[in-house]
Amino acid sequence: MRQIRSGLVTSATFGPERVGCTWLSSSTCILQELAIMSPEEINLEEIAFCHGAKVKYRELDGCEAYLLADTGLGRAIISIDDRAHTRRRRFSLAHEIGHWERHRGQLLMCSKEDIGGSGGRARKGLSREKSANQFAAELLMPEFILKPILRDFRKFNMRAVCEIAKTFTVSKTAMAYRLVELDHEPFILAAYSKSGYHWHIASKSIDRKW
Ligand SMILES: [Zn+2]
Repeated sequence: MRQIRSGLVTSATFGPERVGCTWLSSSTCILQELAIMSPEEINLEEIAFCHGAKVKYRELDGCEAYLLADTGLGRAIISIDDRAHTRRRRFSLAHEIGHWERHRGQLLMCSKEDIGGSGGRARKGLSREKSANQFAAELLMPEFILKPILRDFRKFNMRAVCEIAKTFTVSKTAMAYRLVELDHEPFILAAYSKSGYHWHIASKSIDRKW
C-alpha cells in the first residue's frame, strides 16, 4: 500500500448517518440499508454510487486498484485494473469501498499483495489493508446471507465451496477463507504451491496448536 498526495484531503468523515445501525458491522449496515437480501443483489457499483464513489475500470500501472477521494465533497473515484479476472476485480472493488468507508482522508493505491483475505498475504503491520480486506469479505459474503445458504449443504468439500463461491461471485479461496473465519464447521484451510507450504488458517473451534 502506498499513500499518495495525503495533503489534499482532511480527516473529516462524510456519508450517510447510520442511526440505529451501530451494533452491526459497517458492511452489514450498508447491505441492510439497501435492503439487499441475496447474493445476486450485491451490486458493488451501485453500493459505491450510493456512497458517493464512482467506479472506473481501466488498465492501471503499478497497482491493482486505487481510491482517489475528495472528502470535502464526499466524493471518490475508485479505479480498478480491468485486466484482472471478474472475481478478482469484484474483491478489489469491495476492498476499495472498504477504504472509502473506513479510511477517509487518505488516498490509497493498493497492490496485488494488499488485496485479498488470505492469511499469508495479509502482511503484518498493514492494519488498513487487513481492515479493508475484512470489510470486503463481509460485504461480498455477508454472514446473514451466507449462513442460510450453508444449511442447504450437508457435506463440505471443495466442490461445495466452489458452488457457494460461484453463487457469491467470489474466488473459491476467498469463500473457503470466509467459511473458516465464520467457523461454520471445524475447517483447516492450507495453501500450497509447487514450492511447498505457504500458509494455513483454522476455525476457532479447532485446537490452537494447529
Ligand atoms: Zn488497500
